[in-house]
Amino acid sequence: MSTVRDADVVIVGGGIVGAASAYFLAKHGARVALFEKGVVAGEQSSRNWGFVRIMGRDPFEVPLAIESVRLWQTLEAELGADLEWRQAGGMAVAGTEAGVAAYERWLDVGRQYQLPVRVLSNREIRDALPGAEGSWPGALYNATDGQAEPAKVAPAFAEAARRLGAHIITGCAVDAIERTGGAVTGVLTEQGPVRAPTVVCAAGAWSSRLLSGVGVAMPQLAIRGTVARTTPVRAIAGAGVWAPELAFRQRRDGTLNIVDGSFFDYDLVPATLRWAKDFRPMWNVFKSYIRFGVGAPLVEGLIGLVPGTARHDRPFRTTRVLDPPARGERVANALAGLARVFPDIRDAAITRSWAGFIDMTPDMIPVIGPVSEAPGLVVASGFSGHGFMLGPIAGRLVSEVVLDGRASLDIAPFRLARFRDGTSLGPRPLI
Ligand SMILES: Cc1cc2nc3c(=O)[nH]c(=O)nc-3n(C[C@H](O)[C@H](O)[C@H](O)COP(=O)(O)OP(=O)(O)OC[C@H]3O[C@@H](n4cnc5c(N)ncnc54)[C@H](O)[C@@H]3O)c2cc1C
Repeated sequence: MSTVRDADVVIVGGGIVGAASAYFLAKHGARVALFEKGVVAGEQSSRNWGFVRIMGRDPFEVPLAIESVRLWQTLEAELGADLEWRQAGGMAVAGTEAGVAAYERWLDVGRQYQLPVRVLSNREIRDALPGAEGSWPGALYNATDGQAEPAKVAPAFAEAARRLGAHIITGCAVDAIERTGGAVTGVLTEQGPVRAPTVVCAAGAWSSRLLSGVGVAMPQLAIRGTVARTTPVRAIAGAGVWAPELAFRQRRDGTLNIVDGSFFDYDLVPATLRWAKDFRPMWNVFKSYIRFGVGAPLVEGLIGLVPGTARHDRPFRTTRVLDPPARGERVANALAGLARVFPDIRDAAITRSWAGFIDMTPDMIPVIGPVSEAPGLVVASGFSGHGFMLGPIAGRLVSEVVLDGRASLDIAPFRLARFRDGTSLGPRPLI
């Protein structure tokens, strides 16, 4: 483990957002130290579906998504790595006529940005998915959506940052952010204090907890998404597809990542109560998609409230990699959905399944930018299920905020303060 005592910028978290930030900062000459308590991309950034989707996003996110896709298009060359990038479109299939109407309304957002987005008929859906059986009222389709292999991307950013001189320190938790007279002065890590005038919190699902240590409140909860991988099958789709009974992406080797598109799991934790008021509008909008559960996260969370326990005193060292169990019922539903939609590949078998906690904000768009009450602190977190797609642009915006004092795109809608000053518009994404 390399030892660092000071840096221009300390980044907390080695997911795609932290690693991309390290890359763009190092590329522009900053001395960067990134600390990751576990391994690079151990949590959400390697566990996600791999969709790089613009369509259906919150209107505030669309300009960032478009610019991110522009970065994705040349990312393999930029990082010198194979990311299994493919820009073959994205499709979100509606289960109801009301769903189609909502997609049709989103076309206005897409047109504003000249996106080649359109609503497909049932016939067009079936043409795009040869062998698919089913009757769907319509689907939103965008030809510029893409996909990539999650496990490859954050490590490629981290490696490219390292080549540019960044310190990427894994297995080393940041226990606390330090402030003097209000301004950030560095961090306390497992290997001791590190001085830095700027600290970037890119700690994924742990951000709210880390920030609370310096008196900064960020409403954040996490839902559990379960994913399964099948054996290789015939070519079924180039696009990433989200349908009510089945979401899937076909990987380069012919295997599929499949997901039960109908439900996510929400494990109750002590923070559920703390942020209940902030998240109530989101629960109301998405309640038919979320299954609430009581289990280990609640027990562990309650232990973490007790001073003297490791979970309370050193929470970031206690769980090196958040590795929630895959929900068997979701895997079974996804496999059943696959057999229903593509009867000819019903013999596909599951080779592995996994889950990940998806960190959410109450309005389902991230926090990106400086924190006014803590000079030197920059937050890039709360990506609400969109952070794989947004990762490259988030990293570039962080580097601009840190090095230029301003971002090249409008990041005002992503201010942390929106949750306090009442300017958050609430959850608006369609998908
Ligand atoms: C099942 C699932 C499906 C998804 N599908 C998609 C998709 O298709 N498309 C899409 O765009 N997004 C998707 N997402 C969301 C996307 O994966 C996330 O938004 C994105 O990966 C967030 O990246 P991050 O860097 O902010 O966080 P993370 O990847 O969670 O990284 C944060 C890192 O910070 C580290 N850390 C935390 N605290 C500390 C500390 N104190 N000290 C040191 N290190 C610390 C953690 O160990 C972790 O590695 C999905 C997520 C999941 C789980």
